[in-house]
Amino acid sequence: MKYQELVDVYSALEATTKRLEKTDIIAEYLKKLDADTIGKVGLLLLGGVFPAWSSEEIGIGAKLVERAVAEAVGTTQAKVEDAVRDEGDIGLACIKLYSKKSQMTFFSQPLTINFVFDSLQKLSKISGSRSTNRKISIILELLSQASATEAKYLTRTITEELRIGVGDGIVRDAIAQAFDIDKKVVERAQMLTNDFSVVARTALLEGASGLSRLNLTPGTPVKPMLAQLSLPVAEIIPEMGTAICETKYDGIRLQVHRNGNEIRIFTRRLENITHALPEIVELFDEYLPHDDYIVEGEVIATRDGKPLPFQNILHRVRRKYNVEEAMENVPLKLYLFDVLYYKEPMIDEPLMTRRETLENIVDTSVDEMNLSTMIIGTPDNIDEIEELFNSSIAAHHEGIMIKDASEPYIPGIRGKKMLKYKAEPETLDMIIVGGTYGIGKRGDFVGSYLVALRDENDEFKTVAYAATGLDDATLEYLTGKMKEIEITTKGREIVVEPKIVLEIAFSEIVESPEYETGYSLRFPVVKNIRKDKGPMDVDTVERLLSMYKAQ
Ligand code: ATP
Repeated sequence: MKYQELVDVYSALEATTKRLEKTDIIAEYLKKLDADTIGKVGLLLLGGVFPAWSSEEIGIGAKLVERAVAEAVGTTQAKVEDAVRDEGDIGLACIKLYSKKSQMTFFSQPLTINFVFDSLQKLSKISGSRSTNRKISIILELLSQASATEAKYLTRTITEELRIGVGDGIVRDAIAQAFDIDKKVVERAQMLTNDFSVVARTALLEGASGLSRLNLTPGTPVKPMLAQLSLPVAEIIPEMGTAICETKYDGIRLQVHRNGNEIRIFTRRLENITHALPEIVELFDEYLPHDDYIVEGEVIATRDGKPLPFQNILHRVRRKYNVEEAMENVPLKLYLFDVLYYKEPMIDEPLMTRRETLENIVDTSVDEMNLSTMIIGTPDNIDEIEELFNSSIAAHHEGIMIKDASEPYIPGIRGKKMLKYKAEPETLDMIIVGGTYGIGKRGDFVGSYLVALRDENDEFKTVAYAATGLDDATLEYLTGKMKEIEITTKGREIVVEPKIVLEIAFSEIVESPEYETGYSLRFPVVKNIRKDKGPMDVDTVERLLSMYKAQ
């Protein structure tokens, strides 16, 4: 299959903002594909060549791509940089540069989807000496055979910034529409496999029944079930009936998989962080040694037995070197709260059954290995639940979780069956899309951050400039990171790719035509850099609106 056909689809998708039109365009295209190509297209439509569960990435910086484009069109890198600045992104710059292309490739073959896909996957595997040159030559081979529009989307794919306004939801709906399958069946298959190549191929070859057979596999991470904010306990519990109420720990959520003798640890963003936590691997080897499983829990950092703030555990998990030293300085404690797989998938079992299984299989005789503190909550013991909340806060934890005891585990969903009740006021997780440099002696740093939320098409819409809450070292750190993902800088204004997530506190939500959402925040304060979150974990415009209505 020709890459140009996929590129035509990209162009059509970019030309509309309407979700239903995008779904139609993709569905029609998917129907034309064979089993091998559809798997690759399932990933390429989302701008990548690896499934969501994989920690592999193309991993090529913008500068390297600019160098390759310069060679492909026979100009200088400085000219390419100028074009990127003028046009706003590398893809549009290619359209401009290719129209003046001086080097012609003779006897060039049209690019195929297979060739593009395999070349892009190859890029992630190159390391070691001369790796830059080898990467350039792979990119160059693609670019020199490419048409202008192919180059536009190739370079955007390589820099992981496709910009066609297509997220998981649209691809899911398009697969359902193309093969006449219930959306829920496609969604479930995607949640369990986190791999649109498998989902699309299975939908084509085996339809709904094939998708229904897909299930969890220990070793492949699954998106976690998420929580909504709870109303006060006395209002919620009568609705829920029987609830499992647990201490909410302020650490990092871990999903621990055992497959044969291999233990792997993943974050909520499905990153494999096994290497950073050798003592946790040991804990599982010793205290949960049998059979294949997937369990979930929160890991926290402690000092003298007391929990430390969230940032401490984050530093531990991010560490690539001197892991041993960090192990001594930041002792960890684990609190398991769920089991998704034990010998067989367990997500369809009610939470109560899963909790009982967890209690039966985990040996908690050491201090580091625990199950979350829990009580069974009913309308008759609301005071005990409130007491659990108070004692959790007194022990420096975040609050409590309230979970419906009769519910299955639904991966990736933020539903009403799992609630969080915290002492601190609500915050929003937002993505940085730009910023303003300071003046005077702060002129080297971005001092004010333009933050945005995600809309229903997974596009980012601005809400506010946040300028308080950060010390100088953090300003310097953020400025450095923003320069790495800079799209343009004009005067004091910088525009960046949406990659960095900030947790923002505020006093009030107000209407404001100045921002793309039509709303803004009064007194926004940056509480944390959420390095454990990515663009897809950013809060939604819908949540902002419901908070606005509630206030
Ligand atoms: P927050 O910023 O409030 O942690 P979040 O967006 O990171 O929210 P949510 O799903 O909204 O994630 O809140 C639930 C999170 O609380 C879980 O992801 C998990 O990391 C953490 N947590 C701590 N203790 C528990 C527990 N006992 N059961 C479930 N989750 C827990």
